[in-house]
Amino acid sequence: MPVAALAASPDDPRDGLSAPLHGLVLVSTPIGNLGDISSRARTALATCDLILCEDTRRTGRLLAAMDIRARTETLHDHNEEARIESVLGRLRANETIALVSDAGTPIVSDPGYRLVRAAIAAGLPVTAIPGPNAAVTALILSGLPPLPFMFLGFPPSKQAARRTAFSGLRAAERAGLVCTFVWYEAPHRLLETLVDLLDVFGDRNAAVARELTKRFETVERGTVSELVALFTREPARGEITLLIGPPETDDPEDLDGRLRAALATQTVKDAAALVSTATGLPRKLVYARALQIHEEG
Ligand code: SAM
Repeated sequence: MPVAALAASPDDPRDGLSAPLHGLVLVSTPIGNLGDISSRARTALATCDLILCEDTRRTGRLLAAMDIRARTETLHDHNEEARIESVLGRLRANETIALVSDAGTPIVSDPGYRLVRAAIAAGLPVTAIPGPNAAVTALILSGLPPLPFMFLGFPPSKQAARRTAFSGLRAAERAGLVCTFVWYEAPHRLLETLVDLLDVFGDRNAAVARELTKRFETVERGTVSELVALFTREPARGEITLLIGPPETDDPEDLDGRLRAALATQTVKDAAALVSTATGLPRKLVYARALQIHEEG
């Protein structure tokens, strides 16, 4: 049964009426604060034929808090592949199926990608109700350059694999990658991960966002060594998103290197915008230098 569309605000010409929801609906749920559930998410969960979730008890608590009674079934890393055919069958029978994760945006470091890919390949409708996501929320609160950013999920839990992964990113930086990196991390591993970041990337600006949207939300900003000192004194607790920015520089050699790397794949204007955002240097100045380098060939 299609989920009823919600009327949009008549004051905002950008809104328009939403299309009726049907097929597979990827529904984002709060990352800690129930007030962040959207009205579209609520409507979808209340009216769909089935909710696929990682844990029926956890999602049951969310539904109970909203006074919603709905049928829930599990879809998690261990049964996703096996469940795909039956879910596609139900979608073909015109059912509306919502997919949620324990918290935040499904698929992002959460199950569902294989199902979405199969539904797309089968030509079945897939839509999303966007909402909370810890990585983007941490990014905008971090004070680090927001563009470009690279979200990497959880770092490997074993130190050797983690250092190898970080070294690969550092090598990409040496080849011209300039971005803010964002990871999810468990509190008991935060300190060792920060120490590895310091060893591989050096002491650059970073942030640790904890318990976002909840009562004890904090965002610690500083250099990686300052954060190492802080979390050595006070071991981290709660849910954590970790970010490091690109190396800070006003060194002209480094500016030129970055511009040359960016100009290899981008227009002068785009390369200048990218490097100016990443370094914090004035756009006019960076553009003028980009143009010179471009003309020098
Ligand atoms: N899909 C989710 C999303 O959209 O944010 C993330 C799922 S991932 C399995 C869970 C991890 O996200 C946590 O272990 C933590 O690293 C991070 N996270 C989730 N909620 C958070 C919060 N409120 N504050 C900071 N980080 C959070």
